[in-house]
Amino acid sequence: MRRISILGATGSIGQSTIDLIARDPGAYAVVALTGGANITQLAADARRLGAQVAVTARDDLLEDLRAALAGSGVAVAAGRAALLEAAARPADWVMSCIVGAAGLEPGLAALQQGNVLALANKETLVCAGPLIMAEARARGATILPVDSEHSAIFQALLGEDISSVESVTLTASGGAFRDWPLADLARATPEQAATHPNWDMGQRITIDSASMFNKALEMIEARELFGLPPDRIDAVIHPESLVHALVTHVDGGTIAHLGAPDMRHAIGYALNWPDRAPLPVPRLDLAAAGALTFRAPDLARFPALRIARAVMARGGLAGAVMNAAKETALDAFLARRIGFTAMADTVSRVLDVAEAESGLIDAPFSLDNVLRADRFARKTARDDVASASRDNTGR
Ligand code: NDP
Ligand code: MG
Repeated sequence: MRRISILGATGSIGQSTIDLIARDPGAYAVVALTGGANITQLAADARRLGAQVAVTARDDLLEDLRAALAGSGVAVAAGRAALLEAAARPADWVMSCIVGAAGLEPGLAALQQGNVLALANKETLVCAGPLIMAEARARGATILPVDSEHSAIFQALLGEDISSVESVTLTASGGAFRDWPLADLARATPEQAATHPNWDMGQRITIDSASMFNKALEMIEARELFGLPPDRIDAVIHPESLVHALVTHVDGGTIAHLGAPDMRHAIGYALNWPDRAPLPVPRLDLAAAGALTFRAPDLARFPALRIARAVMARGGLAGAVMNAAKETALDAFLARRIGFTAMADTVSRVLDVAEAESGLIDAPFSLDNVLRADRFARKTARDDVASASRDNTGR
């Protein structure tokens, strides 16, 4: 039996992972399931799958979790330290699918066991790519990308030498606002931004898709995973979301990966790797699709892509700064303190402030330095949001 842990089990990716493993219960021994606020889901899955331990990141919810799992034989724990302890428990395969930079340390703890880390949490690589890749090499661990575009590239690269790759292209649906008049974007609401045309995902990544900060994160993720220079990583709008990524080789041949927009393909690929096994995902019907269309992203509509290029060119801890500023700006947008287009403005200003802070972005890639850059960017972004919302209300 394979020992499996899921960090972020109650979320969209976590639930899709559980959907797959629950179809073959005899094959897996569930070590740890972790969640946050959703105690009901966490307890139900831990009980059903017979997990060793269920952990909520929320200290204040320990008693709720304990009550929900009374008599089940599942151990319970709560808080950040308990989450890291659960992540470090011996397991053959760990899914890292907590949302945001909060997933970095648990993912790192799991990686240090030297087994397989299925990585959905792209923020881990955006914030600390060189540190994570070095740690994986040192521990003999395998990182399998779960982000659909990166799983697609990984699959397209099988049997190929990375030195023959001329470029990779990530596709993007363009999100909720791809066809909105530009002038209306500033007034878009969180509810409008949280509606995705093709994929069913968590709220935060769905809004990041509308702003294309998701693609910005993914370009950096691709750079870290595949070690390609930034000018060989591209993004193209593909409204149908059937082609997930393309790899172009030096001989001019391009290999594309296609499939229905269902994350259980990428999750299941990582679960069965290095083999393939049948998965319960819809099959591609090209005749029904009719046409696959592509267009270049409009950088005026999607400034996040320009920011991603600047961050990749800058290197160092600029990715950690960008991500933390983006997470803070997204919180402010969700709280209706700033508008949709103001998120990118905040991120740009925070990057400028961080640049002026001596030794911050150029600090060596240690966990402490990444966390310091993250804290600095969150505080700077909160100050920026406060002054932007003061300006708006005229106070
Ligand atoms: P969700 O918001 O649906 O789920 C997030 C999970 O993380 C939940 O289990 C949540 O617990 C938990 N969580 C939230 N905050 C914390 C915290 N501070 N500490 C510990 N746990 C926490 O996110 P998604 O599943 O959509 O995304 C997860 C990751 O996968 C993200 O990095 C995303 O970018 C990436 N990804 C997602 C895709 C998708 O299709 N959804 C596609 C590609 C990548 P609870 O809900 O109980 O509070
Ligand atoms: Mg993706």
